[in-house]
Amino acid sequence: MDNKEQKNKDFVLDLFFPKFCLGCQKEGSYLCDDCRALLDISEFDYCLCQVQKALRPSRLLQDPKSAQKDGKCQKCRNKNLSGLYSALPYKEKQLTKKLIYQFKYQPYLKDLAKTLASILIEHFIISGKNTNEIWENGVLIPIPLDKKKLKIRGYNQSEEVAKELSKVLQIPLIADNLIKIKSTKPQMELSKEERERNLAGAFMIKNPSELAGKKIFLVDDVYTTGSTMEECARVLKNAGAKSVWGIAITREE
Ligand SMILES: [Zn+2]
Ligand SMILES: [Zn+2]
Repeated sequence: MDNKEQKNKDFVLDLFFPKFCLGCQKEGSYLCDDCRALLDISEFDYCLCQVQKALRPSRLLQDPKSAQKDGKCQKCRNKNLSGLYSALPYKEKQLTKKLIYQFKYQPYLKDLAKTLASILIEHFIISGKNTNEIWENGVLIPIPLDKKKLKIRGYNQSEEVAKELSKVLQIPLIADNLIKIKSTKPQMELSKEERERNLAGAFMIKNPSELAGKKIFLVDDVYTTGSTMEECARVLKNAGAKSVWGIAITREE
């Protein structure tokens, strides 16, 4: 589809299915400029570790070069994930929750992927990650869903965001190599040991040679305990990936 055709299609869709702002119900988009301005898009990077009570995890150095080498605190240095880029951290914002919720649950606003990806892009820009050095030789990989979940939702929300990021960042998306072969329970509800058991054998790499030596950016909607992303990073590194970074729209502590 060329640009003009896409515009015509968008016009027809907007006519019959008008979009309303999830913040204020104003017609025109899922997130109007006024409500978007209320979001606290982060200009900083934080470590992978979880917040203990009211404390925030360590804020990392601003210099993108040092963030690239050292995207985490001392405590997390043995983790497979090299670091996490998260656009909307820490704040218990109703609007953030609503955006994520409507993206994943009925009536499934799949098109929210564009809005959410643009929030991530804004985070990359204001946190100084709009450099070639960070993205060159990178590939985007969405956290996969198991077959059952995919069937219910009809799409993988992380893949939809990754598709949009791929267009803007101009780096390839590989969505069929890391797959989920086991259904898992939400990690939030489990103890540390249960989490490990829950995730064991859940992910698989179909074609390791495609990932060998690559810098991988794993994309997910929400970063909660981090254990799913860490397990995917472990599997990817075992398959030969050079480094694995996480990208999440928001993190929930
Ligand atoms: Zn609004
Ligand atoms: Zn840490």
